Amino acid sequence: MSTPHQREQPTPDEASAATAPAVPNAADLDVLAAQLSGTLVTDPDVVDAASRDRSPVEEVGAAIALVRATCRDDVVATLRWANERGVPVITRGAGTGLSGGANAIDGCVVLDVSRMNAIKTINPSRAHRRRRTGCSQRRSVGRSA
Ligand SMILES: Cc1cc2nc3c(=O)[nH]c(=O)nc-3n(C[C@H](O)[C@H](O)[C@H](O)COP(=O)(O)OP(=O)(O)OC[C@H]3O[C@@H](n4cnc5c(N)ncnc54)[C@H](O)[C@@H]3O)c2cc1C
Repeated sequence: MSTPHQREQPTPDEASAATAPAVPNAADLDVLAAQLSGTLVTDPDVVDAASRDRSPVEEVGAAIALVRATCRDDVVATLRWANERGVPVITRGAGTGLSGGANAIDGCVVLDVSRMNAIKTINPSRAHRRRRTGCSQRRSVGRSA
């Protein structure tokens, strides 16, 4: 029994249930797919290929799906959907990072923003570019040259 100053500790099973991410089923994924202008991919080979950056050593988990976002609303819909279900999201751009930051974790959705790559404005005199979140430096610099 606990005193007023003691909080009852959860059993190991309770603790793991509280922290484990939810695992969405196919119907849940359909709900997300219906909200996207982009695509939701569940083909394991395609998902796996998008689940890692260029780190040679960092661990890679098993993602449940890949969202190829094409616009801001896709990002909003994905994050809202995931937040409602406690599903982790790993965002990736070109996947050129070397530290495993874009590597999937188990049960996550990979949110690929590389198609959101429009360059909005280029101001050469101020060396200033406005580009969308998935635009690579190489593409942006190439357009400015
Ligand atoms: C050959 C080579 C040379 C490099 N040289 C340099 C260098 O000189 N200087 C340098 O700084 N880096 C360098 N890098 C590292 C790499 O280019 C950077 O990490 C790059 O900025 C990653 O961009 P990305 O779109 O590929 O991101 P990813 O690798 O896809 O992701 C990188 C991280 O950012 C997160 N992320 C990606 N997009 C978003 C988003 N839209 N919103 C929120 N989070 C996001 C990911 O989850 C991850 O944690 C080099 C890499 C390579 C392969």
